[in-house]
Amino acid sequence: MPESVSTPDPSLLSINTATVRQQWRLPDIISGCAALGIRGIAPWRDQVAETGLKEAAQRIRDAGLLVSGYCRGGMFPAIDGAGRRAARDDNRRAVDEALTVGARCLVLVVGGLLKDGEGRIASKDLAGARSMVRDGVGDLLEYSRSAGMPLAIEPLHPMYAADRACINTMAQANDLCDELGDDGLGIAVDVYHVWWDRELKDQIERAGDKRLLAFHFCDWLVPTRDLLLDRGMMGDGVIDLPLIRSWMERAGYRGAHEVEIFSANDWWKRDPVEVLRTCIHRHQTVC
Ligand code: ZN
Repeated sequence: MPESVSTPDPSLLSINTATVRQQWRLPDIISGCAALGIRGIAPWRDQVAETGLKEAAQRIRDAGLLVSGYCRGGMFPAIDGAGRRAARDDNRRAVDEALTVGARCLVLVVGGLLKDGEGRIASKDLAGARSMVRDGVGDLLEYSRSAGMPLAIEPLHPMYAADRACINTMAQANDLCDELGDDGLGIAVDVYHVWWDRELKDQIERAGDKRLLAFHFCDWLVPTRDLLLDRGMMGDGVIDLPLIRSWMERAGYRGAHEVEIFSANDWWKRDPVEVLRTCIHRHQTVC
């Protein structure tokens, strides 16, 4: 930890449930976090559905956990009207679920190029996909604003532009907030996706406290062996986490530090209590 940056407040640590999803179901994750004194959680929809929405919400409340975000909505581009309506309905349900679990925001992974019915990429029109995303977010905002659930656009690393998200930088996310209005719309800053961006500091400042809705932690491993499932534990990679945190705090961010690690060959194979204890320790020592 550099001396210029203070140790993070331990109560800000939140666990994105993807981090131990291979070892535990949601009720175990909730009780495991509570038992270790972790105060926040960010559940995924499939895990909530498996437990049952009402029961999941009740267990989270009973454990006294804050919900730093709900994962996830988005995937707006669709090849036809039926697909767009399905995405719209599903995103509205995600807003409702996020309200039920008491989430601070619904995280949006916005989707990439158009896919056909079998999930194969069906178009090279990246600009077209981005305008579908703009329209989709704009449409969902009408619903989420009246429901009172903030939407957090998560820019994803450009390696996912084709298949997961064609919003790839903080600047793009800020532009979208400018265009659609940032009442109930902001950004989820995930260090894994944006650490490399030379505009990161400026774009965090541009976003400011109002738009900075979530802050996700992990680390970038060298070498990275899988585009999706080889994220590192904080401190094991090359991201200057205290530096990025200092930019977030200077911009006014006071929210959770959410650990989100997809790690098929390492952390998903370890004892989940060891994983959570490591998150607690690394949060205090390298974040
Ligand atoms: Zn994330």
